[in-house]
Amino acid sequence: SDQTELLRRKLEIHVKGDSVPDPILSFSSCNLPEKLLHNIQTLGYDMPTPIQMQGIAAALTGKSLLASADTGSGKTASFLVPVVSRCATFRHGNLSKSKKPLAMVLTPTRELCIQVEEQAKLLGKGLPFKTALVIGGDAMPRQLYRIQQGVELIVGTPGRLIDLLAKHDIELDDIMTLVLDEVDCMLQKGFRDQVMQIFRALSQPQVLMYSATMSQEVEKMASSMAKDLIFVSIGQPNR
Ligand code: ADP
Ligand code: MG
Repeated sequence: SDQTELLRRKLEIHVKGDSVPDPILSFSSCNLPEKLLHNIQTLGYDMPTPIQMQGIAAALTGKSLLASADTGSGKTASFLVPVVSRCATFRHGNLSKSKKPLAMVLTPTRELCIQVEEQAKLLGKGLPFKTALVIGGDAMPRQLYRIQQGVELIVGTPGRLIDLLAKHDIELDDIMTLVLDEVDCMLQKGFRDQVMQIFRALSQPQVLMYSATMSQEVEKMASSMAKDLIFVSIGQPNR
C-alpha cells in the first residue's frame, strides 16, 4: 500500500522479491508467543529497529531471506525473534517425545557465537527453547550431552560443527531454519565450502542470511541456497 511505501522510504528499507510482507510496526503486532513478547520487553526493546521491522515480518512467512544492515542495527534479534517463535510454537504443538534440534545459527567466530547464544537464552526464557554452543574450547562433551538430551537451537562456528557432525550421530532432519550471521565475514574467512556442506546436510531449511555488507559472492551463495528469496537492505540502496 501507499502507507507501506512511505514507511519504507522514511526508514530506508529496501526490499526485493515476490510477496514481500509489510514491515511490522511493533513487536506485539505479529502474533508472537506471549512469553517471547515479555522477554523482548524485559530486554528493553520498546520498538523494533528497521531491520527488525522488515526482517521479522519476512522470516515469519517461512521464506528465506538475505538481509543487510549496519553493525549495531539489531540484526541479532531480527533473526532470533522469528527463530524462537517458530521453535517454541512447533514444540508446543508437537506431542512427539523426540527433541531433535529445530534451528541452527552459524557465525564466523566463537565470541560471536557466545553473544548470539546469550541473547537466544534471554529471548527463549520460560519457553521450550534450549540452546547448545558448538565452538572451540574444552566444554564440548557437555555441549554434546546437551544436544543429545534435546535442544531447540544449536549455535556454532562452521568448522567445529563439521567436526562434531563427523564424530557423532546428530539428527538434523528436524532443522527448520538455518541462520548465517555475518555471512560476508564467513566468506572472507574461507568458510564457504563448510557452510555449504552443513546446508546440504539439512532438509531444505528456511535460510536467514545476515550481513553488514552485500557482495556478489554473498548474493551468489544466497541464490544457490534458496529459490524464492526475499532481499532486505537498510540504508543506502545497493551498498
Ligand atoms: P548487529 O548484529 O546489527 O550489529 P546487534 O543485534 O548486536 O546489532 O544489536 C546492537 C545493540 O542494539 C545490542 O546491544 C542490542 O541489545 C540492541 N538492540 C537490538 N534491538 C533493539 C531494539 N529493538 N531496541 C533497543 N535496543 C535494541
Ligand atoms: Mg551482528
